[in-house]
Amino acid sequence: MKTHVFFVDKNVDDLNTYPHILQAASYLQRGELVAFPTETVYGLGANAMSTTAVENIFVAKGRPSDNPLIVHIATKEQLHDIACDIPPVAHTLMEHFWPGPLTLILPKKEAVSPRVTAGLNTVAVRMPNHPIALALIQASGLPIAAPSANRSGRPSPTTAKHVLDDLDGRIAAIVDGGATGVGVESTVIDCTTAIPTILRPGGVTKEDIEQVIGVVDIDRALVEKGAVPKSPGMKYTHYAPKAPLIVVNGSSTFLQQLVNEKRANGLRVGVLTTEERRHTYEADVVIPCGRRNDLRTVAQHLYDVLRAFDETNVDIIYSESFPNEGMGVAIMNRLLKAAGHEQVMEK
Ligand code: AMP
Ligand code: MG
Repeated sequence: MKTHVFFVDKNVDDLNTYPHILQAASYLQRGELVAFPTETVYGLGANAMSTTAVENIFVAKGRPSDNPLIVHIATKEQLHDIACDIPPVAHTLMEHFWPGPLTLILPKKEAVSPRVTAGLNTVAVRMPNHPIALALIQASGLPIAAPSANRSGRPSPTTAKHVLDDLDGRIAAIVDGGATGVGVESTVIDCTTAIPTILRPGGVTKEDIEQVIGVVDIDRALVEKGAVPKSPGMKYTHYAPKAPLIVVNGSSTFLQQLVNEKRANGLRVGVLTTEERRHTYEADVVIPCGRRNDLRTVAQHLYDVLRAFDETNVDIIYSESFPNEGMGVAIMNRLLKAAGHEQVMEK
């Protein structure tokens, strides 16, 4: 299959009637797969009401079939096609955070393909805050199931190039609208529990949510080793670069010692650091990932940097760690998954 690339400038007027958007939307209406930018990462879209269309997503990504998909909508009206019994707290969250990187888990309507929800009786829904995503969904007139547009297990794509590296020839089309902004995926919050529960940390922080609806719970699996996650996707290793990655909890002197030991054994060593500390390390490859004094910039660059290490021939990567609060929670969640939870602590 030849993957058709549509270039679209997200700043043009009348995106809703832009010919490339209409063409991409017609692929979706025919049940084909179209990758498109959102404010978090690139998504791989398919008609959420069509089981055959949705099955193609799992095939193209090599995604485990028990990992449900997020349904993307462009208007509040579309919500009623896919979810029912929507609790008041969900409406409050939508008012404050939509369009934006917050996914709500709600009771599902019958019409949504069970392949989307992996057989669960709930559905994950979000309204992305990206003009191209919104225009495409609206032009298609469909709710669009869209996981990240990477091969399963690889870092999520934040540029069209990342998508093509993984999926060229496996999908019908991609809308190239430039680099995405937030860089990590949406926060997933279960609104079917008495107290809403965060199942996956992401682009909206727990602190942001609590300012609007008061105290929320966090899925035990996010803090306790061995607990089974309520979000099926959270149990999979993810985002891994090709070389083993180890997260270092400690000073830069300690991290440098680890680098020195490996290099003394003849290994080529990479360091994932930040702009503030990039000149601190001596290693074979040193890549800065945003600025420590603004963790949003770290989130923005994380997947790009993980993929950049694949272009080098390092044998092992050591990464700095980040404070476990605010956006740092999502960053540490993704980093530790990329590392298969390999970490070392300075004594
Ligand atoms: P992705 O689309 O790759 O960013 O992943 C979507 C995330 O949402 C995965 O972690 C899924 O397990 C989770 N998810 C989707 N639908 C549900 C649901 N109905 N209940 C719980 N988690 C869900
Ligand atoms: Mg994903």
